[in-house]
Amino acid sequence: MNARPPIPIFPVAPSAPTAVATTPDDLAHTAVDQLGRAVHDLRISVTDRCNFRCTYCMPKDVFDRDHAFLPRNALLSFEEITRIARLFVGQGVRKIRITGGEPLLRKQLERLIEQLARLDVEVTLTTNGALLAQKARSLADAGLRRVTVSLDALDDAIFRRMNDVDFPVERVLAGIAAAADAGLGPIKVNCVVKRGTNDGEILPLARHFRGSGHILRFIEFMDVGSHNGWNLNAVLPSGEVVNRINAEFPLEALDANYTGEVAERWRYRDGAGEVGVISSVSHAFCRDCTRMRLSPEGQLFTCLFADRGHDLRDLLRAGADDSALTARIRQVWRGRDDRYSELRGEASRAAKVEMSYIGG
Ligand code: SAM
Ligand code: SF4
Ligand code: SF4
Repeated sequence: MNARPPIPIFPVAPSAPTAVATTPDDLAHTAVDQLGRAVHDLRISVTDRCNFRCTYCMPKDVFDRDHAFLPRNALLSFEEITRIARLFVGQGVRKIRITGGEPLLRKQLERLIEQLARLDVEVTLTTNGALLAQKARSLADAGLRRVTVSLDALDDAIFRRMNDVDFPVERVLAGIAAAADAGLGPIKVNCVVKRGTNDGEILPLARHFRGSGHILRFIEFMDVGSHNGWNLNAVLPSGEVVNRINAEFPLEALDANYTGEVAERWRYRDGAGEVGVISSVSHAFCRDCTRMRLSPEGQLFTCLFADRGHDLRDLLRAGADDSALTARIRQVWRGRDDRYSELRGEASRAAKVEMSYIGG
């Protein structure tokens, strides 16, 4: 008997009528949300599929062979994605991150990158690194600027256990090296820390990446989605991560590169580079959150913890013109009042979007 909870189907807010009132004057102004935040970053999830089954993201017993992933025709085409991205650039977006699922599983992703790179934005990508060694060069040639690679352990046994598909760590390390060779640096290396699972890897990872030019970042295990068995005891607060590294390699705090940067930055006092922490649980950063997320099937999510998306695909496929789409985008952004991490605990939600669907 299979007692697993069903994957929720996310309610979609009805499309706004295409006649949402927007004058040219209105469109010229930057839209701000209910908390005064403007949109600067767009994260585009290009697939809900993945070749890993990280226990904190796509636990195998839920994302098993019976799991219904999105059918191909539900996915936005590259042309549809680029069109939406271009409209977001018109609204102030300056950074686009391609994510997933595992984005390198999407066929001919380089074609999308080529199209996005023609917009006036920085295009980056987050990957588990499994296919990076073979794809780094073509991604860079297509116009990708930087990559972020997820890597939760250097120890092969721990890494294989966490990805839960027995994938060897050396192939991800080879991917990181290939990305550096292809000019996709400085590479960010993201490690999700689970207390009792891989917190013993913090120092080995720090030792390994010090002096490499890559920026290692430790992420607090988050209560995203509804299936990753999250509990507060498994969260190692970033303050403790910093203390552990500082005890071996003295650190000093660096200023943020820009408002809204999610990582707190630290530098090794001996000049061996930078390390960061992302404290979404212990130190929420919602007030500077300027990110909109586009799902593989064309829904906008205003927060990683949203329980509903706002559909754009129907409007797009019904032949809406750019001003109608822009009006819808602005309407969604203007209605945004999300600050889940700041309210965590008060704001318990029955169903939240899965990380593997919307991307980190
Ligand atoms: N598959 C790609 C990868 O793993 O890099 C991109 C998508 S993945 C959902 C994006 C990021 O989300 C990864 O760095 C991953 O470690 C992080 N992530 C997934 N589940 C998480 C969780 N429960 N808490 C914190 N970070 C999480
Ligand atoms: Fe896949 Fe990334 Fe989720 Fe791991 S974190 S299961 S690699 S989508
Ligand atoms: Fe942004 Fe939502 Fe995360 Fe807060 S909880 S930082 S609003 S994505």
